[in-house]
Amino acid sequence: LFRSFTLCALHFSSTMATQSQAKELFRRAEAVCFDVDSTVIREEGIDELAKFCGVGDAVTEMTRRAMGGSMTFKAALTERLSIIRCSREQVNKLITDHPPQLTPGIRELVDCLHQHNIKVFLISGGFRCIVEHVAAQLNIPRDHVYANRLKFYFNGEYAGFDESQPTAESGGKGKVISTLKKQYGFKTVVMIGDGATDLEACPPASAFIGFGGNVIRSQVKEKSSWYVTSFSELLKELEKI
Ligand SMILES: [Mg+2]
Repeated sequence: LFRSFTLCALHFSSTMATQSQAKELFRRAEAVCFDVDSTVIREEGIDELAKFCGVGDAVTEMTRRAMGGSMTFKAALTERLSIIRCSREQVNKLITDHPPQLTPGIRELVDCLHQHNIKVFLISGGFRCIVEHVAAQLNIPRDHVYANRLKFYFNGEYAGFDESQPTAESGGKGKVISTLKKQYGFKTVVMIGDGATDLEACPPASAFIGFGGNVIRSQVKEKSSWYVTSFSELLKELEKI
């Protein structure tokens, strides 16, 4: 019975019982999917890229407008990238000069999940070249990374992004989780993240854990049956397995 049931924010209103159910689902998960920006890493990849390319303020302003309005994820990404227009060289230099900062405790948590044979995936609206760098540090295989792909012309200039990736769409994280469930036959998949797009991935995710260790988004916090501000809280739960 437990296996087939989904524990997502909007389906429950009481907190105590649902939190213990979320914990139970986390302990029995076959796969755990992490958002990357402001979850696995401390910052937002696209903001760092914009700053590095000298258009930080313009992109921050654009992000604010996109979040308040009715713009689709893809439209917002297109607009921001059309301001940034980063070259391949700039992206590579960003990774070398300002490598993404791992959130404290993520390494221990991912190691522990792997020790328990729980599969770990990264699902990001950010960019594959940056997310793969993060995955490598956490011993997460490349084929467990779902993110957007930047495109470059042969001379390295910005040429857009791959619009066919599920992560380029609103609701894309949920689509990836559905695909994982089919592909690997997972019954219990837990999504962890700081943002609304992470929360929206449940369902199809079996449970959602809100993460507020880098930024606290009050709408996400309110709707999360289990909300943590440190990965050590999750590690503690795994010790009960
Ligand atoms: Mg995030």
